[in-house]
Amino acid sequence: MEMPIPDPDILSRKARIVARLQAVLPANAVIHDEAQTRAYECDALTAYRCPPLAAVLPTSTEEVSAVLRVCHEEGVPVVPRGSGTSLAGGALPTADSVILGVARLNDVLETDYDNRFIRVQSGRTNLSVTGAVESDGFFYAPDPSSQLACAIAGNIAMNSGGAHCLKYGVTTNNLLGVTMVLMDGTVTQIGGAHMDAGGLDLLGLICGSEGQLGVVTEAWLRILPKPEGARPVLIAFNSNEVAGACVADIIKAGVLPVAIEFMDKMLIRVCEDFAQAGYPDCEALLIVEVEGSTAEIDEQLGLIKQIARRHDPIELRESQSEEESKKIWMGRKAAFSAIGKISDYMCLDGTIPVSSLPHVLRRIGELSQDYGLAVGNVFHAGDGNMHPLILYDANKPGDLEKCEAMGADVLKLCVEVGGCLTGEHGVGIEKRDLMTAQFSPEDLEAQLGVKDVFDPAWLLNPAKVFPLAVTETRRVA
Ligand SMILES: Cc1cc2nc3c(=O)[nH]c(=O)nc-3n(C[C@H](O)[C@H](O)[C@H](O)COP(=O)(O)OP(=O)(O)OC[C@H]3O[C@@H](n4cnc5c(N)ncnc54)[C@H](O)[C@@H]3O)c2cc1C
Repeated sequence: MEMPIPDPDILSRKARIVARLQAVLPANAVIHDEAQTRAYECDALTAYRCPPLAAVLPTSTEEVSAVLRVCHEEGVPVVPRGSGTSLAGGALPTADSVILGVARLNDVLETDYDNRFIRVQSGRTNLSVTGAVESDGFFYAPDPSSQLACAIAGNIAMNSGGAHCLKYGVTTNNLLGVTMVLMDGTVTQIGGAHMDAGGLDLLGLICGSEGQLGVVTEAWLRILPKPEGARPVLIAFNSNEVAGACVADIIKAGVLPVAIEFMDKMLIRVCEDFAQAGYPDCEALLIVEVEGSTAEIDEQLGLIKQIARRHDPIELRESQSEEESKKIWMGRKAAFSAIGKISDYMCLDGTIPVSSLPHVLRRIGELSQDYGLAVGNVFHAGDGNMHPLILYDANKPGDLEKCEAMGADVLKLCVEVGGCLTGEHGVGIEKRDLMTAQFSPEDLEAQLGVKDVFDPAWLLNPAKVFPLAVTETRRVA
């Protein structure tokens, strides 16, 4: 993975930059010792590592603003960081950058049930947003599998999704507003407590902008009343392609489950070992969940089972209790951690039209044979968001490069069938060099123009999202 050469001038000014950061932050909020900065050398894409110049941990919007002013004046790149769970290398530092971590900005600022929103500081973890409102019968819908750890900041930057986003939408559909600090320290508010706040509708631009435009410090999030009930059904098949065809038929029929998740044989085994969820022994498994009153659940599941039976499943099993449902989801949500126990892996994140699932699954199988690398599949099948996990050996010379090449082929395949490079994990550095497979030079220039407006000096989150060759003139300038 090519990264820009660190600026020797910035490296030589480290002592002064650190002293200026210490002057605007509490003593324990600036980390500059080399051994300690290693804690920030990577995110969850651990194949790539580089300790930053320093890391700072502010506790308020004002402190974030002060840090950015210093870095702007010193011409130092800044990498915003939430919890560091990005699978795309979105929070990977460069040696001449300052990591700006928002983990200490984690308070609930306002809860308004009448208007169904909560305002939180952006370092608050996803799950603890629901934690703050669930005793009053509410929840925050986007549910990345990493929700115990990942922060709302990262969710907004990556426009994160999760298993239940088929019905409720991803982060952008549940975000009402943000407080964001620009690279020069200016504090701005975009959107607010209600839908369609006045002024230009810039919120959609911010959500998914991967730390390129500003540092989000607060967010207004939509909260929803908890559904009356929910019940998953397990549908087991003897072939990946047939399972894919079943998903396409469920979507075509117009039923709207909250989730349709897919796991292939490798993932079923690994997740079963992890969670003892009682998954059937089969080639491909769908977890389909519906919500509502008991009558609504029965009706929707009845239709789903009818569709599934047309594809000759080897087992169709409805959850019989809340305990069983929890285990079913625990297994699925632990998929990435569980596979990490058996091998190094790279998790891809392409999106495809649901009707292409059988074809794409077959091609992934062929690519796996061609490259000689095992692939496990687990993904949000209902919205066509695929997560092929390519297994490799980080200690075997050449294996990572082989894995990268295969990953690139899979993602290009997603684009070829009419999908796109990323569903929910973002571009980061992982898919940066593939952007030209999806966007024309004119498209990319328009995207760069947006960054020019928000971050004219190109200091925020360097070397991510855009291929280095495309940004060279701007970075040099
Ligand atoms: C086991 C596992 C399971 C996962 N499952 C899912 C899943 O189901 N769905 C899904 O969508 N993702 C998933 N992810 C990926 C990851 O958790 C998400 O991308 C998450 O939103 C990242 O949040 P974070 O706080 O860790 O962000 P980080 O990794 O710290 O940063 C991610 C990006 O956000 C930017 N950023 C961070 N803070 C700010 C800020 N304050 N202002 C502006 N930009 C900022 C960073 O610069 C970076 O580009 C998973 C990851 C793991 C490890």
